[in-house]
Parts: sequence; structure tokens; C-alpha cells
Amino acid sequence: MAIEAASPKPRIGISACLLGQEVRYNGGHKRDAALIERLGPSIEWVPVCPEVELGMGTPRPPIRLERRRSGEVRLIMPSSGNDYTDAMRSYAERRVEELAGLDLDGYILKKDSPSCGLRDVEIHQDAGAPSRTGRGLFAEALIARLPDLPVEEEGRLHDPLVLESFLARVFDHLRQRR
Ligand code: SF4
Repeated sequence: MAIEAASPKPRIGISACLLGQEVRYNGGHKRDAALIERLGPSIEWVPVCPEVELGMGTPRPPIRLERRRSGEVRLIMPSSGNDYTDAMRSYAERRVEELAGLDLDGYILKKDSPSCGLRDVEIHQDAGAPSRTGRGLFAEALIARLPDLPVEEEGRLHDPLVLESFLARVFDHLRQRR
């Protein structure tokens, strides 16, 4: 699909590390050059890093999803044992409420992240290999509050058909919004 450069720009939320912001746990970024260069000039980006906005700092020890014996999934920093589940849920609820007021047309999330990952995020258990059945807590709050928003992970957008479908939904959303 050709990007409609002459029309008003769609506004797309994005995991900040994908834009090149150095917000990852290791102080680095995960700039997706191919995607950003392809879309960049035609998009108004709204970057969000849930972990930094929560006050976890950069660099920081990594966090992950862990399943308790009760079956409950928690967001844990293994190096300290700190449990960020409640703090992240409450931050995410507030932040997606703000984002709901920004008239976003889409959202691109960083895959595999316990905060931003949309699908197949690792959930660690007492023993054995992690299962890839989780969803990041920020992503969970985002799609619960904005169920009609086009949302994709950056990895899947390297597939031209997925990208075309995502952009079609984004521009459709923009047309309806205007
Ligand atoms: Fe921040 Fe999400 Fe990127 Fe992790 S994946 S660094 S939480 S924006």
C-alpha cells in the first residue's frame, strides 16, 4: 500500500526503544531502522516506554513474567525479587487513559517484552522451559482500553502483507477520526 503522504499524518503510538531511544534495561535501544525509515516521514509518532515512565531507570536489571503456583502471572525483577505487577498495572491504566485522549490511529509494540509484547511473551515457571503464552502488562491494558485500535508488533510488520493490512486499518481509522 502506498503511504498517503499528502493527507494528514496518522498518529501512532510506539514502544520508544523501536524509535532509537536508549530506554532498554541495558541502556540500549532496538531501533527498527527498516520500519522507521519506511514509515517515519508519514507518521506522527507518540513514543512510550512503560518501564522508564514507571520510574525503573536506565539501565536497570531485567524483569520478566513469572507464573505462581496459583496460576497467577506476575511481573518480577529476578535479581531483587521485587514484584512490579501492581505498579505496572496501575501506571498502564492511567497512561492508556491519557493515550485514549490523543486520538491515536494505531500502535506498534516491541515483541517479547514483559511490558510491551503483544503475544507469545515468555512466562517463567518454577521448573522447565518458559512457555511462550504471555502478554506484556502495558500491552494488555492498551488493548483492553482501546479494543478497536490497530495494534501490531514490529516483528510481524516486516511481513509486507501484515504491514499493508496494518496501514490500511491505520488510514481507515484516521479517515473516520477526521
Ligand atoms: Fe521500554 Fe517497552 Fe522498549 Fe522495554 S520494550 S524498553 S518497556 S519501550
